[in-house]
Amino acid sequence: MDNQKILPAAIDLPLNPKVLEEVILKAKDWALMHGVCMRSKTNFNTDSLQFAPFVLTPSLYPRKEFEKAVNLQTILNELIHKVAHDTEFLRDTLAGTIQVDEFTANLFKIYETVLAEGITQELSLGLVRSDTMLETKKTCINPCQKKLECQSKKRDRLYCCVAMVEINTIASGFGHLGPASRGIQSYILNELGHNDKIKNLPENNALSGLCDAMVEAWNIIGNTKAAILFIIEDVTYNICDQRFHEFQIRENYPHVKVIRKTLTDVFNTGVLGSNKELIVDGIVCSVVYFRAGYEPGHYHSQNEWSSRLMIERSSAIKCPSIHYHLAGTKKVQQALAKKGILKRFLTDEEEITRVKEIFTGLYSLDKEEGGDQVVDMVLKNPEGYVMKPQREGGGNNIYGSDIPEALTTMSEEERSAYIVMDRIFPPISRSYMIRPGAQGAPTIVDLVSELGIFGAIIGTKEKILYNRQVGHMLRTKGSSANEGGVAAGMGALDSPYLF
Ligand code: ADP
Ligand code: MG
Ligand code: MG
Repeated sequence: MDNQKILPAAIDLPLNPKVLEEVILKAKDWALMHGVCMRSKTNFNTDSLQFAPFVLTPSLYPRKEFEKAVNLQTILNELIHKVAHDTEFLRDTLAGTIQVDEFTANLFKIYETVLAEGITQELSLGLVRSDTMLETKKTCINPCQKKLECQSKKRDRLYCCVAMVEINTIASGFGHLGPASRGIQSYILNELGHNDKIKNLPENNALSGLCDAMVEAWNIIGNTKAAILFIIEDVTYNICDQRFHEFQIRENYPHVKVIRKTLTDVFNTGVLGSNKELIVDGIVCSVVYFRAGYEPGHYHSQNEWSSRLMIERSSAIKCPSIHYHLAGTKKVQQALAKKGILKRFLTDEEEITRVKEIFTGLYSLDKEEGGDQVVDMVLKNPEGYVMKPQREGGGNNIYGSDIPEALTTMSEEERSAYIVMDRIFPPISRSYMIRPGAQGAPTIVDLVSELGIFGAIIGTKEKILYNRQVGHMLRTKGSSANEGGVAAGMGALDSPYLF
């Protein structure tokens, strides 16, 4: 990553070693005492927590690009909602993928089953997160490959523009840890004598925004005895980012019950009632919030797939419903970047232009869609691309110099389960990354960030009842790391410092 732009720091660094040591100690305690935590992967137990890795000082982020991403979210909500409800588009787009990707095929089977039976619950709840990075190339490339002058060029002189990484429609995490990152960095800025700078960290109400939308869905169903069901993994490391949602709901809406079950539990104790209400462990669940079910490992056997189908058949409002899950696949994202496609879903020309402007170049590897030419293009400059399978949760992509071997050892069929994306080269910021278990004083490191904007939407195919932008999160990783999941271990909590 030569020639990457370097962002200025929020405060003067390095810090005096003694000041650094003291502030780290305080910040770690602040994190532990405010639930800015996860469970340890190496020493898992339900009796203790570990603070989540964090960046000591916030990374600079151009205000204009932040606002651009925030203001686009309700349009992206609408886009994904319409895509999710376009059966023909989902069928056509995923036809090739389900031939070669068993996981997507299993999801699709559930979709076709409920379509054939008739959808019981027409309403869907989308709690989505659009992930973006700043692009530092002097020009931004829109999906039809036309070069657009980067809009922020003149003002920021950093040539940064916001560029889409992906839109998540299932288990979009950090509703708690996003706002909590602002909390800890505000505390640190204040302790370091920079109280005046806290105003540059934008307000972030992601947790209440996401929870309010869940309760809104619960209210629409109107069964006061029903619970909201969180579908969870067998072992939850990112526990604070789920329990705080539960606490938020329980504290603000004490009459709304929340229960947590795995797909296996749902198989063992779940049934559909006479009106297709979902009853788990004797409790009717009117809203289902999936924090698991997005990767093959969450389905240990046919039992978990049966649970997923049962939930989908039920009258509960699902977050996501199966078509929303499919709309979030990488293949669908690639299809949306094709020339002229957005017109199918959005009517307003100006909105279409704004969405296109943040899209990153995406390409099919399917032979019938010009995959051979894409392979040639990628092999000429592998460092310029990322290869992505139809997976979620991080750690699945192939980058740069690993691409040629992957491409040459794969069959044409296997290849078509992936898509290719232009690699985004974000600007570098510099700060201290504080990790649990790290020995000695940290040094200043080069970092890159990914900004996620949360959206909440409720509606049917015909009508959108609720559509909001509800907050954000910033994850930061070492500039040489390919991926930056915090739960996966590479990333750290951060928040944008607008300038
Ligand atoms: P997942 O659904 O598994 O999170 P992503 O598409 O978000 O998949 O990719 C995972 C990570 O890989 C991202 O968080 C980002 O750090 C990195 N990444 C993905 N796409 C790009 C890209 N086009 N350029 C640079 N980095 C990328
Ligand atoms: Mg994802
Ligand atoms: Mg991602």
